[in-house]
Amino acid sequence: MSARPAPRGAIASVAHHTTGAPEASLPPVPFLDLSRVHGPMADELAACWQRALATSDFIGGPTVERFEAEWAAACDATHAVGVANGTDALELGLVALGIGPGDEVIAPANTFVATIEAIVRSGARPVLVDVEPGRLLLTGDAVRGAVTPRTAAVIAVHLYGQPVDADDLRATCAGLGLALIEDAAQAHLARWQGEVVGSLGAFAAFSFYPGKNLGAVGDGGALVTDDPVLAERVRVLANHGRPASGHGAHVVVGTNSRLDAVQAAVLSAKLRRLEAWNEQRRTAAAAYRRLLTPHGIELLAPEPAALAVHHLEIVRVERRDEVAARLRDRGIHTGVHYPLACHQHEPYAAFAAGCLPVAERDAARVLSLPMFPGITGAEITRVADGLVAVLGELADEDPAIREVAS
Ligand SMILES: *Cc1c(COP(=O)(O)O)cnc(C)c1O
Repeated sequence: MSARPAPRGAIASVAHHTTGAPEASLPPVPFLDLSRVHGPMADELAACWQRALATSDFIGGPTVERFEAEWAAACDATHAVGVANGTDALELGLVALGIGPGDEVIAPANTFVATIEAIVRSGARPVLVDVEPGRLLLTGDAVRGAVTPRTAAVIAVHLYGQPVDADDLRATCAGLGLALIEDAAQAHLARWQGEVVGSLGAFAAFSFYPGKNLGAVGDGGALVTDDPVLAERVRVLANHGRPASGHGAHVVVGTNSRLDAVQAAVLSAKLRRLEAWNEQRRTAAAAYRRLLTPHGIELLAPEPAALAVHHLEIVRVERRDEVAARLRDRGIHTGVHYPLACHQHEPYAAFAAGCLPVAERDAARVLSLPMFPGITGAEITRVADGLVAVLGELADEDPAIREVAS
């Protein structure tokens, strides 16, 4: 690297930016800090484990049943079935609905790959469609454009904690005779027009992966439904095909996908705080919006009918990887959800329903800012100031880059 001070713009645009930010001396802003969630309730969490040890209550049993009842009530539904993870909740729910080989399931291309993985594992064929550019969510129009005589269901993903337009998707699915399934893994207690997610369609799948808004201290998941027959089928499938009342008979080929009692105890304890944590996320999101909007930074479109829970807080920027690298140099850690749309991963390449320009363009532009309960106002200000500064640097350097190239 040259020892001479670089003229602003020219050499700085090729040399990797590492110095000069006064923020470098401050502690980093983490992307996610679960210790701030768990620290204040550490004794309560330890008691969950001690109780499990004392009772030898490890899998199923009253602790799991209690959490299932609490979670169903929180989702305004009659049944919640605890399973091993959110992916299994989707897969087992599809199988229990009778969806499998020969069927097509429409889903958005810009989701965590587990949504699509679950469809493939059920035996059905995913049909990946594009999303609307404002909130990056599935719409009824996209469903109507992809439906065929083989379409059996639609999986709507409440991505980043934003509820989908439930009125639109319910009406679309009802009109076409399709089952509406919610992938609510990122949207615990989000609401559309006051209605809580999880009870909008045939069933909803939740993940309790530790980083989710309601997270266990390991893997966990649940299927939520108002349909008692569906709930019982999933219970049987998830427990090696054995009904609780079946005198030990295995009546279908099932699998092992059960919720641990320790996880259920932790989830019950954390559920009591979930609304407060979601409110903290909303406060943090409002601060980001206030700080970033005046600078023209592209946030997800506001939607008055939606009460979002801000699982992830994304902005869309050009040269996203460079922006992330420069933020990291300033001690600001970010994430990318997701760097590729699902059909851009080799195993899922065959499932795209035509061109998906929004999903593809924004996979290259989305950047997830630090967002978790307990993030401070000072941290949010640092992130916002850092982002504004980095985008300013890149804009200043752009003419220099053009000059060098010409
Ligand atoms: C986390 C997640 C899943 C899968 O949940 P696991 O518990 O990790 O299996 C599915 N869909 C979406 C959108 C997710 O974010």
